[in-house]
Amino acid sequence: MMMSDSTIALNPFTPVYGPVSSWRYGRSLGIDPIGVVSTCSFNCVYCQLGEIEQKTSDRQVYVPTAEILTSLENFAPRSVDVITLSGSGEPTLAANLGEILTGIKRLSDRPTLVLTNGTTLNDPQVRSDLAIADKVSIKLDGVSSDQLRRVNRPVPGIDFNEIMAGLLEFRQDYQGEIGIQTMLLCPWDESTRREYISLMAAVAPREIQLNTPKRPKPVQRQFDGRENHTSRANRPYQVRSLRCVDPEILHEFAQEIQQKTGIMVRTAPIPATV
Ligand code: SF4
Repeated sequence: MMMSDSTIALNPFTPVYGPVSSWRYGRSLGIDPIGVVSTCSFNCVYCQLGEIEQKTSDRQVYVPTAEILTSLENFAPRSVDVITLSGSGEPTLAANLGEILTGIKRLSDRPTLVLTNGTTLNDPQVRSDLAIADKVSIKLDGVSSDQLRRVNRPVPGIDFNEIMAGLLEFRQDYQGEIGIQTMLLCPWDESTRREYISLMAAVAPREIQLNTPKRPKPVQRQFDGRENHTSRANRPYQVRSLRCVDPEILHEFAQEIQQKTGIMVRTAPIPATV
């Protein structure tokens, strides 16, 4: 079924949403600094927002800080495990990211988390903004430019080696908790697994979160892609099922990483939440 005007009317933009149940971080209150138009420097084949509408790596203010903070002030409940900046695209593209994080910290004592695709980490201003967050979870779905191109489909000018360089530089100075989120679309061969393990040993995150796309991908932009839309029966929009990796294979890879690096690895439960 195609998305109708009445469906759009049911989905007005709210900069604060949830709480969402996250298998990685518990009960999470979502903050969306991107807004009505989904905007990202990637267009991942599995993206839960649907096809990204605005593909860009430009930073700008998408949702005014005051709008976000007023919405947070009026929002209940706030008894959550974490306040997460994610939402309708790549949160580090919000030029007011640092201001938003500082404002959240004034309003709440809950830990703050930013979910990022890592494409802006070579920008010193982004690293300085992210330094305000208590936790940062960085996407890394492969070990090569080829995987990046096939899985994440970045905007022109984004290079795998530059992402890794930015990630390592961020790792050096950041005082909070770093997580690496990796989505497997197919089992990896031995050399890819070896290269990934070597990269993880260099980054030394606090934990690695391994997942496979168990939720179907909306064909078009959907606001509830920000949340756990698998729980919704009879969705009023079209979705496309994605190929996913057998949980056994995911689990074996998790054990291999953990044994070789000592880094804690979590794998998504079935059905996966965000
Ligand atoms: S980085 Fe996140 S928001 Fe951007 S396309 Fe990928 S899954 Fe979607």
